[in-house]
Amino acid sequence: MPEYSFCLRKKDSKVDNDKIFDKIISTGVTYYKYYAVMVNSEEKYYVSTFQECENIINQLKEKDSDNIDSISYIVKYETGLQGFTSVDTAVAELYVEKPKLPVYSPSTVAGSVVTGANISYALADLGGISFINPISGTITSRFGVLSSIRSSYHTGLDIGSSVGTPIAAAASGTVAFSGTKSAYGKLITIDHGNGVVTYYAHCSALYKSVGEVVEQGEIIAAVGMTGNTTGPHLHIEVRVNGVAYNPVDYFNY
Ligand SMILES: [Zn+2]
Repeated sequence: MPEYSFCLRKKDSKVDNDKIFDKIISTGVTYYKYYAVMVNSEEKYYVSTFQECENIINQLKEKDSDNIDSISYIVKYETGLQGFTSVDTAVAELYVEKPKLPVYSPSTVAGSVVTGANISYALADLGGISFINPISGTITSRFGVLSSIRSSYHTGLDIGSSVGTPIAAAASGTVAFSGTKSAYGKLITIDHGNGVVTYYAHCSALYKSVGEVVEQGEIIAAVGMTGNTTGPHLHIEVRVNGVAYNPVDYFNY
């Protein structure tokens, strides 16, 4: 910041505001305040106002750009100016379309599925298979409980979520069932070998068909509220040789 002082000058001396400003600039260091739009902590574009940063980010959010989580901005105080980019150009160049997953139509062969209410509280031997959580969230209904909306014990674990949340395969395997199954609604199951099968029920969309091989963590479906449900959630089952075991023993909820 420059330091100012007052002085008296002759009434007829020819000094104007521009000359005073030039003098201040020439005797000090000038800092410019502007903004850098960042992608993964790397400065990509420069704009002069905070409002332009907000516009860029809001427009990318509205367009549901796939990279929205990696975009941020910082305020810059620099002695030199950078070339500014317009909001429209930045949005057009930054926008990344979300990959579209093919939606499997359940009208074709759905595969086979065991839907019996046979449950066990014992710890099943999964033969060394370990699971990752298919979605994040909190438990809304536990295994084994009775409730008014079903006729037998709860054969799975419910995780509250919102419609459209991607569901990841708990472990690698082969899709054994993908289609609509009575109270389960849209259901996909994965056979992991050793008689171990995981179920993902009440989906809004199924992305894999019977016989497809999936990797652990691969997106297989989206959360929904199809079938017997009072709200959007994922119903997860762990079945070993057809018997349903308590999912909390194998997942991290
Ligand atoms: Zn359930």
